[in-house]
Amino acid sequence: MQPTDRGANDAAAAARRLRGRLQSAGLRPTRQRVALGCLLFGKGDRHVTAEKLFEEAVAADMPVSLATVYNTLHQFTAVGLLREIAVDGARVYFDTNISEHHHFLIEDGDGLFDIPGSYVDVSNLPAPPSGMKIARVDVVVRLCKDEG
Ligand SMILES: [Zn+2]
Repeated sequence: MQPTDRGANDAAAAARRLRGRLQSAGLRPTRQRVALGCLLFGKGDRHVTAEKLFEEAVAADMPVSLATVYNTLHQFTAVGLLREIAVDGARVYFDTNISEHHHFLIEDGDGLFDIPGSYVDVSNLPAPPSGMKIARVDVVVRLCKDEG
């Protein structure tokens, strides 16, 4: 088997797995969702913005609009395949790692890095208002350059 064939088979296997994931999450595995999903989940755990994924889709000759990328990311998030991390009004990252963890954010740059959940001890949280419960605690630790 030629290496190129193997690459194509790997891609086909990844697409098949993704179709299964989408279906068990209750999303119809449309061609666009599968193509964007393969792009998104094919590189291990990472944090992407819609704009970044759109750039990657364009580079891969995928005929999608930025609006479609936004919609797809939000649909994936709604069914629990992604976590959305809004770090400020303008920047939203989508995290392919949906396990419990926290983040370092480089404030004046473009970097978000995982902190394992067990490394941050959140205690003394106030009781939530009645009728509510805490769904999740996300800690974003903001970093800036240490100028000495
Ligand atoms: Zn993360």
